[in-house]
This record gives sequence, C-alpha cells and structure tokens, in this order.
Amino acid sequence: MKHSKGICILGSTGTIGVNTLNVISLHNSDFTVIALTANSNVEKLKEQCLKYQPLYAVMVDHNKAEVLQQALVKSSSQTKVLSGTDSLEFVASLDAVDYVMAAIVGAAGLLPNLAAAKAGKRVMLANKESLVMSGKLFMDAIADNAAELLPIDSEHNAIFQAMPRPVNGIQEKQGVTKILLTGSGGPFRERSIDSLQDVTPEQAVAHPNWVMGQKISVDSATMMNKGLEVIEACWLFDVSVDQIQVVIHPQSTIHSMVSYTDGSVLAQLGNPDMRTPIAYALAYPKRIESGVEQLDIFDVARLDFEKPDYHRYRCLQLAFDAHRSGGYASIALNAANEIAVASFLDKQIKFTDIPLIIENVLEQAPSGTPNNIDDILGQNLSSRDCANRYIKVGRSKVNSFI
Ligand code: NAD
Ligand code: MG
Repeated sequence: MKHSKGICILGSTGTIGVNTLNVISLHNSDFTVIALTANSNVEKLKEQCLKYQPLYAVMVDHNKAEVLQQALVKSSSQTKVLSGTDSLEFVASLDAVDYVMAAIVGAAGLLPNLAAAKAGKRVMLANKESLVMSGKLFMDAIADNAAELLPIDSEHNAIFQAMPRPVNGIQEKQGVTKILLTGSGGPFRERSIDSLQDVTPEQAVAHPNWVMGQKISVDSATMMNKGLEVIEACWLFDVSVDQIQVVIHPQSTIHSMVSYTDGSVLAQLGNPDMRTPIAYALAYPKRIESGVEQLDIFDVARLDFEKPDYHRYRCLQLAFDAHRSGGYASIALNAANEIAVASFLDKQIKFTDIPLIIENVLEQAPSGTPNNIDDILGQNLSSRDCANRYIKVGRSKVNSFI
C-alpha cells in the first residue's frame, strides 16, 4: 500500500479548503495534493497551485480558468487547469485520489460529492447542503461503492467520535438514546427580536466564536445552519429527528454529545477551530497534530446550556418540519435558504425575510421523497425559481421587503 494519500480538495479557496491545506502542510510526507478546485478566485488558486503543485486545478468559470492557466505557465508550473462543473466530478474520481475534501458551499457540491462516493473515495464531508438534498441516495452511494464518509462539520465530527465505532462501515447504535446537537446561537442570541429586521449583512457574518464563509455565517445567525445539521445528523447516524435535541451552548467548547441508555453522556470538547475535525478525518482512525492549541479548561471556566427559542430561530423549526415532511421539502428548504441568504447578503431583503421566503417555498413543495438524482436536481431548480419569484413580488409591494 502506498504511504502518501492523494487528496482532492473541492472548494480549496474557501475557509475549510484553506484550513485543510494548513493541516496537510504539517504532514507533507503523508499527503499529496492531487487536485484543487475553486469557483472564481484566480489569485488564491494560483497561489495554492504554486505552493502545492497539484496535477490538476479546476476553475469552474471558463474565462478565469484561462487566466489561471496563463499565469501558471508563466510561473513554469506543471499544473493542468480544467474548467466547468464536469471537471469537478472528473477530479473527484481520479484514481490517484484517495481522499476528497467536500468543501464547496451549497447545492453546487452535490454532483462532485456524489462522484467521489461512486468512485469509492474517503469523502470528508463539510458540504452539509448536499446531504440535506440527497439523503438516502448519497448514503446508498457511499455504502454501495465501499466509500468512507467522515463528517467535517464540528458537531457531527464530535458525534462520530462519541458514537460506538462503525462495524463494516455501518454505524453501530447500540445503547444510543439521543444526540445532543450543540450550537452557539449566533451573534443575535440576546438581541431583541423586534430589532432583528434591522440586522445588516456585516453584523450577521460576524460570528462570535468561528471564522467561516459568508453563507454559513448567515445560516448560523438564523440557526438554519443548526436546522441543516439536524437533517445531516439524521442521515449520517441513521437516527430519527425525534432523537435529536438542539442545545444552545454559547461557548462552543462542547461540539456535541451522545446520550446512552445507561445514563452516560459522551461529549467531545476542544477549541472552536475546524483544523481539529479536519485532522481527525485525514488521519482516522489515528490522531495527528492539527496546529490547534490545546484546550485550557480553566480558560473556559464555565459551560452554559439553553433551550432554543423557536420563535427567535424560526428557520430551525422549519428545518425540523421539512425533514418530517420528506425529501422534497428538505430540498426546497435548502434551495430557498440559499437564494434568500444570497439576496440578504446582496441587501435585497431583510434578515427577517429569510424565514418568510423559505416558508413560502416550502408550501409549494410536493410531498414524498425523490429517489433519483434528476428529480432531486429538478426540485432544487424549481424551488430556487420559486424563491426568486417570491422575492421579486415581495420587493414590488410597498411595506414588504426593503
Ligand atoms: P467558503 O464560502 O469560504 O468557500 C466556499 C468554496 O466553494 C470556495 O472554494 C469557492 O470557490 C467554492 N465554490 C463556491 N461556489 C461554487 C460553485 N458554484 N461551484 C464550485 N465551487 C464553488 O465556505 P466555507 O465556510 O469554507 O464552507 C464550505 C462548506 O463547508 C459549506 O457547505 C459549509 O456549510 C461547510 N462548513 C463550513 C464550516 C466552517 O467553519 N467554515 C464548518 C462546518 C461546515
Ligand atoms: Mg457545524
């Protein structure tokens, strides 16, 4: 068996992508970067290519791919530049790739992640949206192709660590009664509900404990992030939504817990730094250095826990409801959220419009669960259209959206 693992990072220029490269840099002889991908950030991908010399770099945007290729040739780099969404699937399935870091944001990650699963790779899943959209289909692709699925989301990584060990790739659930999914409550946990309509994108992306991409930062402020994580946990650990309890834990020190029938509760603690779950997934079942400072328990001093207020965090309730309704509703939830968050970041709608848009789109979603990829992608597109239409109509009415 070869010693060095071949790595493909889907979304290498994002927060998770950069953290992954930082961990890999501490273990250069154990990992070889085979492919890096980005949507449109030429400068950052160029810098990464020059440092890690991957075989392939994918820039989804065709014009920017050309700019990147020329810049790399000038720097005598051997990296081959590809473009388009098909190239993401191509690099995620390369024979030279052992591990795929799934760190594209949003629905755009679904097809490349599925390609990695079908090619039997170790899929290190940060892109929760793809699992929310495709649930059983994705889990089946992992099982049917002897792929491995390791959660990167800090909560799910913590749950994975606190769960009984999987046997032959199947999650053992002996004695598990409940999953306690923790979340900080975001930056507006204590802000008056009446003033939430005045929240600006700049305020929403300033998370108290974590440094993250813009979309997930807004999701953390609405707690849609926790809602998506509830659905993610149901699929990853094969538990029902009623076995998941969301716990607000403002310090973000406990990353989640698992309750057992004998009264035990197992927790994973650590500083809020994504390099810990990334290192865990890269080395599993071993442990390697991540570059994260050791937790000083005396620095933490106290751990607080609160029940979520579903009135303040309407998006969290919508996610529970959507998962209960079925797969189509979960796709609609995710699609409407992506459109609403992008519109909020673009200052087209208010922070408090986000749940209204999602609710409206959910009302139009069919019941049941799609069982093939075409139906999943079709529902994603029609829910995005529906959200866009609703925003347009809302903006044309006086006193509705800004
Ligand atoms: P980010 O916005 O910082 O980076 C996103 C990456 O995806 C970039 O490399 C970008 O080029 C790429 N990308 C964006 N749109 C694309 C498209 N249409 N096609 C192809 N590539 C595209 O996001 P992030 O914070 O790194 O989050 C990435 C994923 O990880 C998200 O699904 C997020 O929910 C999840 N996640 C992030 C964190 C965190 O701490 N940042 C924690 C848990 C889970
Ligand atoms: Mg998380």
